[in-house]
Amino acid sequence: MKYVYFFGSAKSEGNSSMKNILGGKGANLAEMSNLGIPVPAGMTVSTEVCDSYYKNGKKLPKEVMQAVFATLEKLERDMDKKFGGKQNPLLLSIRSGARVSMPGMMDTVLNLGLNADTLQGLIQASGNERFAYDSYRRFIQMFSDVVLEIDHDLFEHALEHKKQVRGFKQDIELTASDLKELVNEYLSIVKKESGANFPSDPKKQLELAIGAVFSSWNTARAVKYRELNDIPHDIGTAVTIQSMVFGNLGETSGTGVCFTRNPSTGENKFYGEFLMNAQGEDVVAGIRTPVPITELQKVMPAAYHQLVQIYKKLEKHYRDMQDIEFTIENRKLYLLQTRNGKRTAAAAVRIAVEMVKEKMISTTEAILRVSPESLDQLLHPTIDPSQKKEVLARGLPASPGAAVGEIVFSAAEAEEVAKSGRKCILLRQETSPEDIGGMAVAQGILTARGGMTSHAAVVARGMGKPCVAGCSDLVIDNKADDTTCVIHGHKLKRGDILTLDGSTGEVILGQCKLKDPGLSKDIGTLMKWADSTRRLKVRTNADTPNDAKKARQFGAEGIGLCRTEHMFFEGERIDHFREMIVANNLEGRKKALSKLLVIQRDDFKGIFEAMEGLPVTIRLLDPPLHEFLPHTEKEIVYLSEKLGISAAALKVKVNSLHEFNPMMGHRGCRFGITFPEIYDMQTQAIIEAAILVHKAGKKVIPEIMIPLVGTVTELKILKDNAIKIANALIKDSKTKITYSIGTMIEIPRAALIADQIAKEAEFFSFGTNDLTQMTFGYSRDDAGNFLKEYIQQGILEKDPFQTLDIGGVGILIEMAGRLGRQTLPSLKLGICGEHGGDPKSIAFFHKVGLNYVSCSPYRVPIARLAAAQAAIKENSANKNTKKIIASKKKKK
Ligand code: PEP
Ligand code: MG
Repeated sequence: MKYVYFFGSAKSEGNSSMKNILGGKGANLAEMSNLGIPVPAGMTVSTEVCDSYYKNGKKLPKEVMQAVFATLEKLERDMDKKFGGKQNPLLLSIRSGARVSMPGMMDTVLNLGLNADTLQGLIQASGNERFAYDSYRRFIQMFSDVVLEIDHDLFEHALEHKKQVRGFKQDIELTASDLKELVNEYLSIVKKESGANFPSDPKKQLELAIGAVFSSWNTARAVKYRELNDIPHDIGTAVTIQSMVFGNLGETSGTGVCFTRNPSTGENKFYGEFLMNAQGEDVVAGIRTPVPITELQKVMPAAYHQLVQIYKKLEKHYRDMQDIEFTIENRKLYLLQTRNGKRTAAAAVRIAVEMVKEKMISTTEAILRVSPESLDQLLHPTIDPSQKKEVLARGLPASPGAAVGEIVFSAAEAEEVAKSGRKCILLRQETSPEDIGGMAVAQGILTARGGMTSHAAVVARGMGKPCVAGCSDLVIDNKADDTTCVIHGHKLKRGDILTLDGSTGEVILGQCKLKDPGLSKDIGTLMKWADSTRRLKVRTNADTPNDAKKARQFGAEGIGLCRTEHMFFEGERIDHFREMIVANNLEGRKKALSKLLVIQRDDFKGIFEAMEGLPVTIRLLDPPLHEFLPHTEKEIVYLSEKLGISAAALKVKVNSLHEFNPMMGHRGCRFGITFPEIYDMQTQAIIEAAILVHKAGKKVIPEIMIPLVGTVTELKILKDNAIKIANALIKDSKTKITYSIGTMIEIPRAALIADQIAKEAEFFSFGTNDLTQMTFGYSRDDAGNFLKEYIQQGILEKDPFQTLDIGGVGILIEMAGRLGRQTLPSLKLGICGEHGGDPKSIAFFHKVGLNYVSCSPYRVPIARLAAAQAAIKENSANKNTKKIIASKKKKK
């Protein structure tokens, strides 16, 4: 097993295809040096060692350190410096690097290798005593925090104390001798806290730091980040050990972070920030506000031009937008890192579309470049422009979209407010990885400090949350139990309402009206490519003409599920419906239903018109009876008066209809069997509406869907009834509209006997909400109480109500589709449960040959893109299989 991979100006041992073992950082550093780009020499300890480290009881196997020390000699030759040397000492950075980037989530140690001897060497080599002591101080603090686990605050207090005694405000004012004293104080803190001297042997320091970085794979924040971003917990991190170069050697040194295109908008323009006389952490930590990268042209033209050449080369090489870190040490430029840059969804779409136009990538690659889930961001609301707004202040427009919520000042508060179902805006001086849980539940994030590459900005963009960063008019007054803030003279407290506009950087007092988004031209282009690639059709779940229209704008190709029950709840309708349920005879029921018929016919007419020319699946009434019953005393009295019966009699009736387990009780087609008048009325309303719309010259394609079927006979009875009514109406109308009748497959028994069910159905629509509920035996309404724990304990990988349980429920779907088509090859298959809008589930639906997925209007673009990606991935998997078979044949 090879543990360690060298990179540098001498031949590197890795390249960019080795991300799984070198992590993104290690692989890209090796690749950059292969491209002849100046990179400080280093080595990467592979992710496989991470696994051994944990298996070995969090100890590094001996052979690993032997390999590290052997490779260290190459580094020394490459940099012409000596690790632990009294002259010209080589100092190292030790960083984590998983195969997927997890910015700021794991630990780092910088300036490693310093001790009393090498410090003298550093003073001599840099000619800058202050810098050397400052590096040593930072190293002791960082090493003690990360490796020795000594409270970081102890060092911060010592630093603050020193500044106070000297009457200084900024760290930079401390002199070399102040820092020298501070180093001694830090060393005493270590001795006191750990009971031992700070380790002075550079080799020992190195071994301990590598172990600590591997350990940081499992810090709480890293684990949380992986959970939020769907990153597996078992892939481990690599550790990259790299020669330090210094951006803080004075005014001819500096450091910066850039993107080859704008990560917020996608504009094809070099973009980034830097600081002279600074270390990398100063740029990203948001403590000093950095300067736009174009300014470097004035400060150091040669380095700027070299950087421009390099960024162009890197983008062309990787064929994607790059996020680059660089350092200039005494006018010499080094690249420290390149990786595919994180970007907003808007930027992802624009970059993908423009790169196709620039002939850098193919349309297929463009489709794969945008995560379907991320499109959600683009469908976020913006502030209604007709609004009057009181702009309190402006910060940087760090992550687009608008958000409204009550002010909270900590991640914990944000989580608390979100738990109680309220919306909040998280206000922080600057965010740190510890805030990630709060950021995930907040509507938006506002920070007082930090630039466009600050932690808040990067993380918010990744999450698709609106963020305004670096708002210097925000002053937070931190008090233990009553934090308040002032925004440009306005004193605000916890619970006050703010609106943020992450696209303009505006911070607005009070609640603004937000406006639904439309689709941009670039998304339109990407969607066109996706549509010509996918096989799955995408329909929508919509119950009103308005929703139907919205979904059509988003590209829906029909309605896959119109839940008629909501139509019974609005206004007066519920009274008519209740009248129907509690009626004691058929005549009473029909009287109530005749009022509902008029209303339903109108509803369906509106939907058919909105969906002109496209199929509309209308499901006959489904939900449990108890949902319609009056519950409170007040409701009972009101209804009894309206119906002219006694409250006592009504109460008896209501009680008689009570069910212990309504979800598995009198609902769906069971309702249709026992109250056939309801389904008759609905069928009549559907067909009459279709006739009206057809006569008005619009094409209608009605599909009547019968829910919750578990036996063939249920379906047959209800279908025959519906056909009788529909055919009579059509005959009378002298029109030639056609309709179809199908069923939902949402009870496991229906899936098991799908071949028989298909004798009576023209289509199946999988109701994966109920199918999941009944396959697992988890109540849809109550499972939330334990599912979280199940996922935490690894019993379930994901919430099966969000992402389809392919291994269980998926088997039922595949089997039911196959059995159904054995009986009726033309059987149309769709899915209308929540999973119809979930990209991972969509890939499965594509694979098992469904005809369409149906999801809520806002998820339609997501589903279109996910369906296209599924088709592309299947295609390339097929090509690969063909290649393998061909090469095997050749070998024979
Ligand atoms: C389903 O069960 O998946 C479905 C779409 O129906 P409902 O959610 O209305 O029960
Ligand atoms: Mg259902």
